Amino acid sequence: MRISGKDLSSRLKEEMAVKVAGLKEKYGREPHLAVILVGEDPGSVSYVTGKAKASEVVGIKNTTIRRSVDISEGELLDLIGTLNRDDSIDGILVQLPLPSHIDENKVIETISKEKDVDGFHPLNVAALWQKRPCTVACTPKGIIKLLREAGEDIAGKRAVVVGRSNIVGLPVAKLLLDANATVTIAHSKTVDLGSVTRQADILVVAVGRPHTITADMVKPGAVVIDVGVNRNPDTGKLCGDVDTEAVEAVARCITPVPGGVGPMTITCLMENTIEAFERKMQL
Ligand code: NDP
Repeated sequence: MRISGKDLSSRLKEEMAVKVAGLKEKYGREPHLAVILVGEDPGSVSYVTGKAKASEVVGIKNTTIRRSVDISEGELLDLIGTLNRDDSIDGILVQLPLPSHIDENKVIETISKEKDVDGFHPLNVAALWQKRPCTVACTPKGIIKLLREAGEDIAGKRAVVVGRSNIVGLPVAKLLLDANATVTIAHSKTVDLGSVTRQADILVVAVGRPHTITADMVKPGAVVIDVGVNRNPDTGKLCGDVDTEAVEAVARCITPVPGGVGPMTITCLMENTIEAFERKMQL
């Protein structure tokens, strides 16, 4: 069975649209998300367009600010500072990756913690690991919602996360741990990956390489979340890290690529923006 992130996203966005209409009524304006796009990388342009479309569906005001690829680091940090001080803006997102002359960490740290709707700011990351209130990164948050949608009771399950990046692998592992799974994190130095993944009731794969997980690496009845976004070298089509069709025959549920985790990431960005707005209005 496939768990459609696309369908779940549509449902959640409909619910959010109702909520945003109520918030607008109550506070006199809608939540406002500012997205900064540096350069014209087609992947980044497509992500930013997706965020603008989702904002429209949910009723969030979206301002996309485009800057040329040769903007200096100082100019970008100044722009973020201006948006931090702008009371009409609730969420700020800088589309990554940035050109190599700009330090991404500096950019992430400059966005105020309160407006960091990506959940990448070190203070939000630290708060997540300390089990304190925080903005949770969009992709990990979306993955937990997909598991719930699959009817998976996470508590007590054996979860394996393949990948340990700051934006996916590590925060997903922490959220699974907080939901009382027993969690193993695998990575590029893991010896005999199959022997680890075969133990997983819940398998989350965030590597960025097609065919990382084949059917023989999956425990029968497992729930498999495929985070990877790759181009199939043979067909040129979008594909994940998991051999979807073969694994589908073994697993209880699997998320497809495209249409799985991707739409949920954008939907959780909408949710984070609404939450940032509500926190501000309730101060
Ligand atoms: P990173 O490149 O930052 O991390 C990849 C991880 O995979 C690393 O921890 C690496 O291990 C591990 N890895 C690499 N090779 C192997 C291997 N052979 N066996 C086991 N582990 C391995 O990637 P991201 O976490 O940023 O992204 C992962 C994928 O998810 C990408 O395809 C990306 O495009 C996609 N993605 C999708 C999103 C969505 O919304 N759908 C959002 C974000 C990412 P090590 O630490 O040892 O190097």
